[in-house]
Amino acid sequence: MDEKLAGNFMTFVEDDEGTATITFDDVGTGRRCGDCQLCCKLVPVPVLRKSAGEKCRHARHGKGCMIYEQRPFSCKTWSCRWLADPTTSAMPRPDRAHYVIDLEYDYITMVDNAGDAGRRVQVMQVWCDPAFRNAWDTKPLRDFMLAIATKWSVATIVRFDSRDALTVFPPPLSSDGQWHVVRGGKVEARTAHEQEILDRDAAFRMRVKGARHYERNDGDV
Ligand code: SF4
Ligand code: SF4
Repeated sequence: MDEKLAGNFMTFVEDDEGTATITFDDVGTGRRCGDCQLCCKLVPVPVLRKSAGEKCRHARHGKGCMIYEQRPFSCKTWSCRWLADPTTSAMPRPDRAHYVIDLEYDYITMVDNAGDAGRRVQVMQVWCDPAFRNAWDTKPLRDFMLAIATKWSVATIVRFDSRDALTVFPPPLSSDGQWHVVRGGKVEARTAHEQEILDRDAAFRMRVKGARHYERNDGDV
């Protein structure tokens, strides 16, 4: 089996003995994490009981992950769009922008005003530092949300923690051609991506190649 993951940024291969290998495809952004550790604060890691917005107890400033070789599988397969996606070149590094864009899309359930059965729609996930609540509302990110909506018809969910979020619908996704921001409403504590990772973790022995997380060969960027 040969499968693309995370918006085609990773390749998942399972051999005949049941060992799965995930390879981070080298798309040549040339960017490195440097001293950024924002994902280790903003993104939840269920197996560590680390909530969204809570700095991981294993993260050390200037040193990175103190359990790098033994870090959870969801950490091994994590990489942000700023690191992997060449089309994010207009954005600052995540710790300077105060938000992290997930490589994986997620799903939300939309319910109409009459409360009828919901419809699942795909969304890009942005994890925004709750200490900088308005950090998402900047031109580089609005431009990126517009590009994703235009090309893929995908809206964006901005998560401040596991329960607090807003959803942004750029003009191509609205009937009046305007931006719409839907605030409030609970979101699932466990995202579809996390559940998929947990399911895979249980089902396969994993090897991860080429993970860029905290690989620091050129210092700050
Ligand atoms: S993957 Fe690297 S650059 Fe992206 S948020 Fe995490 S530490 Fe920062
Ligand atoms: S990579 Fe290490 S420091 Fe970061 S969240 Fe995972 S375990 Fe914690």
